[in-house]
Amino acid sequence: MKKSTLLKTAPIVLFATLLVGASAWASEPAASTSPPPERTDRALCLELLALTTRAENLERLKPFCDRVSALPKCTSREGRPIFHFEKGSNDKRGKRVLALGLIHGDEPLAGEMSIDWTERLAALDKHRSTWRFVPLLNPDGLIAKTRMNAGGVDLNRNFPTTDWNEEAHRYWEKSARKDPRRFPGDGPASEPETKCVIAHIKDFKPDFIVSAHTPYRVLDFDGPKMKFPPYKDLPWRALGNFPGSLGRYMWRDYKIPVLTVELGDKMVDSAALQDLIGSFAIDAVRLSGEKKPEIFDLL
Ligand SMILES: [Zn+2]
Repeated sequence: MKKSTLLKTAPIVLFATLLVGASAWASEPAASTSPPPERTDRALCLELLALTTRAENLERLKPFCDRVSALPKCTSREGRPIFHFEKGSNDKRGKRVLALGLIHGDEPLAGEMSIDWTERLAALDKHRSTWRFVPLLNPDGLIAKTRMNAGGVDLNRNFPTTDWNEEAHRYWEKSARKDPRRFPGDGPASEPETKCVIAHIKDFKPDFIVSAHTPYRVLDFDGPKMKFPPYKDLPWRALGNFPGSLGRYMWRDYKIPVLTVELGDKMVDSAALQDLIGSFAIDAVRLSGEKKPEIFDLL
């Protein structure tokens, strides 16, 4: 067949195939024994997005699911990929900012804000910082509506802080009174989601980390002593950190500053907050010192 003939007949063949496929599908009885169709990552991403985002924002945020990828280590306990998106900048003033969302699965607004940031940045021609976003860190918890992952572990108590072996379980028993919502896991970094965060830190080598949560309505900073820029929607207040928490792991053990954004029950001006973070990261890194890339080999 000549190429020109092939081009002319191909759409007809395709159309016929679609018709046959459609009628076969329509006439087939619903067989409960047949396996479900294999879900694509995009379909899963859209499902997770719909769970974390208010309906009025869904269409605007959908392009996120066409941009994402996942590191090989980034699969949840129940086998769901943990997506990320990165957008670089050549601006020498900017810092490398790693933004994490939804470490706790029952805090959907935290996931929405992080995805909001990805879409804002994707639309900008010029921006100062290089950002990597991992907005849906606990997909199993999001689906199950639990703070913990599918293993019943509070991922923000599972980071391998230097005091984990000595303190994590003692703290959980004494101070957290064995609250199952704060269980630190059977060992440091025992959970795949925790391993995924560490893989991102080693791979991306951030100067500064942001972690989004709800519901305490504060900006909580683990980093050098410094003046906090005013932000109209949330006050600055120290909540402290814990054995196995990200703040203690990155700031106390490695001197990489961590900003915890605690939203309330409604969205803040996320664009203004993203700009504030970009500037704040520059000051925080100046005060805490630039890190040598070798530091990430220690993780
Ligand atoms: Zn949280």
